Amino acid sequence: MHYFLAIIGGGPAGYTAAEKASKAGKDVILFEQNAVGGTCLNVGCIPTKSLLYGAKQYFNATHAQKYGVTAEKVSFDFAAMQKRKTIVVRKLVAGIKQRLNNEHCTVVSGAATVVSRTDEAVTIQCGGQTYEAQNLLICTGSTNFVPPIVGIKDNPAVWDSTDALAATELPKRIIIVGGGVIGMEFATLYHELGVPVTVIEAMPTILPNLDQDIVSVLLDKYRKAGMTILTSTKVESFEGGKVTANGEVYEADKILVSVGRRANLQGLEALSDLELNRGAIMVDEFMKTNLPNVYAAGDVTGKIMLAHVAARQAEVCVGRLLKQIPLQRIAYNAIPSVVYTNPEIASVGITEQQAAELNIESEVRQLPMTFSGRFMAENEGETGLCKMVIDAKNQSVLGVHCIGNPCSEFIAAASFAVRNGYTVPEFQQVVFPHPTVSEILHEIL
Ligand code: NAD
Repeated sequence: MHYFLAIIGGGPAGYTAAEKASKAGKDVILFEQNAVGGTCLNVGCIPTKSLLYGAKQYFNATHAQKYGVTAEKVSFDFAAMQKRKTIVVRKLVAGIKQRLNNEHCTVVSGAATVVSRTDEAVTIQCGGQTYEAQNLLICTGSTNFVPPIVGIKDNPAVWDSTDALAATELPKRIIIVGGGVIGMEFATLYHELGVPVTVIEAMPTILPNLDQDIVSVLLDKYRKAGMTILTSTKVESFEGGKVTANGEVYEADKILVSVGRRANLQGLEALSDLELNRGAIMVDEFMKTNLPNVYAAGDVTGKIMLAHVAARQAEVCVGRLLKQIPLQRIAYNAIPSVVYTNPEIASVGITEQQAAELNIESEVRQLPMTFSGRFMAENEGETGLCKMVIDAKNQSVLGVHCIGNPCSEFIAAASFAVRNGYTVPEFQQVVFPHPTVSEILHEIL
């Protein structure tokens, strides 16, 4: 059978594209070597959030006195948390399989390899079978980057995020190398479950791409709570559970290395003329590569490694393949992102620092989250922070950055404003329900 579209990789990019193109009546074949759902569903967003929620329940129970509640003999069972996580993942994977099945998409289990390509067809092999398709969409994602540091390879004390998620027992003490998104989410998990945490970050700050006033709120809180966070600290070597950084030796039974991810290009070797940029596949605004019938979406494009970006890229790509009019593009300026620390951080659009780098004359408004009544009611002892970056020339909202629970749940409202170029007077006309923490977006205007 000659398929209209072959997709390699069944993560958020791959399964979104498969469902959308199949729904439009096209013959689609999807290859996945592990479980559908990709990193996000199997070893990323969903399992971490499941475990983080368990940790938060425990942490809140042991810190409930501030709300007039005393809970005695509170304990947790990490194996039970892991079991629940596995069930959540299994149900979601089954849901995706069902959706693909409903749309009559062919799903092949196994590692696919591209064997040849002409402008008319791409030939793929998987499990000893050969398949042909008119178009190829590469959604092979990314894998944890292993930095070339002495003693890291084959070191049983060193974990990546997948190892950490699979562990059935908690480490007694953990060092986390890399204070990025993965590092700080795992730091939160272990800290809330009572494991002493040391974060080692090479840059002068953790979460370096975020607004640094927002990050400071988290840093202050975590340091006061006893977490060790070392910045401007470069790891020189590993030896078992020992890490040497800036000449000092730190020790733990486990070391989680979370220093970024790299595009996964395995199985694509036959596409030798595929253009890459810093190890990721180069695409145009419709996710087309330099090869006429080859597209790519998700982490493998190295643009923004987030599941929701991958899914949107897939939608845009399929729109292009189906020649839908008007052709859609991705509003990269309005991609929300969340870091699931406690409190959580949510942001969209540019920061004050980025506005300055782009020579945009901006005006910044900021308020503690305590301007929201609901926040006050539910976040004893927290102040939080919300910052809005506004274009000084036309008053349009360029960015919103918050720390405080549950800002992940309303950042989409800010994304909507940034995406649609709302000005302050336009955004002021939006009514937010009372009492909700989302009202901070109205208060700040
Ligand atoms: P990252 O790029 O977010 O952070 C890596 C950090 O490691 C950086 O701060 C960097 O300065 C530091 N670093 C690099 N080399 C180092 C070294 N030798 N020693 C010490 N520090 C070093 O990468 P990540 O945290 O691994 O996450 C990977 C991707 O997954 C990111 O794109 C992230 O956005 C995505 N992700 C998103 C979420 C979410 O949306 N909530 C959650 C997890 C991961």
